[in-house]
Amino acid sequence: MNSNKENESKLLVLPYIKGISEKIERICSPLNIKLIFHSSTTLRKLLVHVKQATPMEKKKGVVYSIPCMNCNSVYVGETGRNLEKQLKEHQYAVNRMDNENGISVHAWKKSHRVNWDESRVLKMIPNYFHRRLTEALIIQSSNTTSNLDKASSSTLRRLRSCKNSSVN
Ligand SMILES: [Zn+2]
Repeated sequence: MNSNKENESKLLVLPYIKGISEKIERICSPLNIKLIFHSSTTLRKLLVHVKQATPMEKKKGVVYSIPCMNCNSVYVGETGRNLEKQLKEHQYAVNRMDNENGISVHAWKKSHRVNWDESRVLKMIPNYFHRRLTEALIIQSSNTTSNLDKASSSTLRRLRSCKNSSVN
């Protein structure tokens, strides 16, 4: 009788998902369901693919970096918009020699070229304060993020006051 019942145990094949598979296993073991997990993470691959449908440059609310082609300086910034739009704005600033834009100031003062192709999203952070704080932490923790001269001090000042206001 007992052995008969054991033979009735059902077999279930699932993709392995860390954290979730363990829970499913715990639920299923008293129910006499035998689980087999794929080593290939089919479901996760599928989910990652869905995520990549929108490229990082089009994601809104990001902390990004734009390196210089001629020195170690890296401009770190944040935007509620996407990197693609932000890059266009920076490029426009450089083209019109905008002296309020850190990248433009660096490029023109030092006759350096901006490495637009190597600019990238460092982090996706939809929340405004988290984004500003992350930007500040990256700038402060890195020796090479000089944030291109003038922009450096203004960015840090802006962030410090932002930090203070969130504490108070
Ligand atoms: Zn440079």
